[in-house]
Amino acid sequence: PPQGYYTRRGGVGEGGDFITSPEISQVFGELIGIWYVSEWIATGKPNAFQLVELGPGTGALTDDILRVFSQLASLLSKCDISIHLVEVSPKLSEIQAQMLTGGKVQSNPEDKSAYMKGISKTGIPIYWYRDIQDVPQGYSFYLAHEFLDALPIHKFQRTEKGWREVLVDIDPEVPDQLRFVLSPSSTPATENFIQPEETRDHVEVCPEAGVLIQRLACRIEKCGGAALIADYGHDGTKTDTFRGFRDHKLHDVLRAPGTADLTADVDFSYLRKMTQGKIATLGPIKQREFLKNMGIDLRLQVLLQNSHDSATQEQLLRSYDMLMNPKKMGDCFNFFALLPHRRLTHPYKNHNPQSKSLLPPVAGFGELLLK
Ligand code: SAH
Repeated sequence: PPQGYYTRRGGVGEGGDFITSPEISQVFGELIGIWYVSEWIATGKPNAFQLVELGPGTGALTDDILRVFSQLASLLSKCDISIHLVEVSPKLSEIQAQMLTGGKVQSNPEDKSAYMKGISKTGIPIYWYRDIQDVPQGYSFYLAHEFLDALPIHKFQRTEKGWREVLVDIDPEVPDQLRFVLSPSSTPATENFIQPEETRDHVEVCPEAGVLIQRLACRIEKCGGAALIADYGHDGTKTDTFRGFRDHKLHDVLRAPGTADLTADVDFSYLRKMTQGKIATLGPIKQREFLKNMGIDLRLQVLLQNSHDSATQEQLLRSYDMLMNPKKMGDCFNFFALLPHRRLTHPYKNHNPQSKSLLPPVAGFGELLLK
């Protein structure tokens, strides 16, 4: 814990080790903000909601979402909104506090749950936690963007003698160097973490992501709300995605541990399984499809019309391309949603089949229809 990458370095952003969508364009967070408002409306405008972000990085994403909430103040004025950030990195939580509150925060060491609290620039209370379990229960919107890919994975390989785990060992030939080895026999992880129906020969499993999804599923089933998970990922097809990034370049995962961002693609098929049918899931769909369905083209047009210098316009077009181009972030990032079953099945459907058409679609996961 004291020497880990996110506790010591945690380099999100241009000057760090990797760059993320909210750091590239304000539009990304704005459209996610709209998604939550749309779900809030679709579920009958409850009088309070919590926005819970897991791994908020620099806080840019929540900042863009809060700007949307404040622009839609006339709609949300009677709703009691609070922000709950789950962050382990002391350095990043300070950066988030600066970004969201201008640095006006109170640390809360005696409080077992929230270790820090403050008020956003737009007047909304914000709380910081180390674990999702500390966040109060209640109708909540959860957000995990480039969070699950940062959690540790186990790697496994199928052999003639059965599943073996890929482990890290000290290289006996070269001092101070690590190497990968195969476990000589099965391990507790090979016994517990591989799905019986697995067909791949190499597989990466992130049990922490599975536990997190189970927690989110229980919370959403019980208290309502929704979760939006966006990350690099695949639907149970890829086998070898574990890699490191340092200074925006690929980095050997075994070299200088703790100094590079380690990441593995999220296996959405595993997440779906881990919901155990408690809730409904939508996606994964590609980032470019989700953002298009959310109206990114219209938003870009408005921003282009409102900006009068060509440098800003070029920057807007460049960041749009970065988010949407299939060769850049458009195809490899995916959106996945968790929703209560009741959100997708109209409660009155059996009484009046026509009323099915009243069921509001979930934004982003279907084509945008302009009336
Ligand atoms: N969502 C942000 C940042 C992604 S980087 C963005 O899109 O820009 C991953 C984030 O998760 C960082 O804020 C990191 O400190 C946090 N993090 C990593 N492991 C964590 C854990 N186990 N619990 C809580 N936060 C964690």
